[in-house]
Amino acid sequence: MNTQTGSILRGLEEPIESLRDIGRRFYARGWSVGTSSNYSVVVQRDPTQLLVTASGMDKGQLTVVEEQPKSSAETMLHVALANHPVIGKGVGSVLHTHSIWGTLLSDLDFDRGELRIGGYEMLKGLDGITTHDTEVAIKIFDNTQDIASLAAKLTELLSENDPALRHGFLMRGHGLYTWGSDVDAARRHVEVLEFLFEVVGRTRTLNPIP
Ligand SMILES: [Zn+2]
Repeated sequence: MNTQTGSILRGLEEPIESLRDIGRRFYARGWSVGTSSNYSVVVQRDPTQLLVTASGMDKGQLTVVEEQPKSSAETMLHVALANHPVIGKGVGSVLHTHSIWGTLLSDLDFDRGELRIGGYEMLKGLDGITTHDTEVAIKIFDNTQDIASLAAKLTELLSENDPALRHGFLMRGHGLYTWGSDVDAARRHVEVLEFLFEVVGRTRTLNPIP
């Protein structure tokens, strides 16, 4: 946890526990093994303050530490989302996973620039989607260690209301970022999108009945 001791922790028991709960759930589903992934929740506005998981910690067993640990470079992406002038007020939590299907599909569909998913009932679990009879696009960015440039690009595209960034984005060969108005909404987005990634991925590997 990216928190300090003493007064800063006071009053944050609930968001801390919510991120620990996310860590246990996602680890159990195989979406966040090793020390991968990072999660955040907005704990204050004006100025925005985020509680962010620390870099290199086992997300299945998150604990609160007694000093300010190193946060992931990817924290910049959480900040870009939660502070965005257009969508930021609606972003109360950002969750990032490293799943097998997200990793595979983000690589396979990278040249297309987005992963398209259409026709599934589970799409209705995404904010603003009310019918299965639709297609959702999830933008795919190239993977990079230059997170500052990616954060700037993300900010720009969100300002342009890019339709492939309504619910989240993938990084090539890396994983998913999604968000929601609070931790529960963001967790629902992860669960729905990871379900859909697996359906799309498995469908591509199966042959139809002859
Ligand atoms: Zn990552």
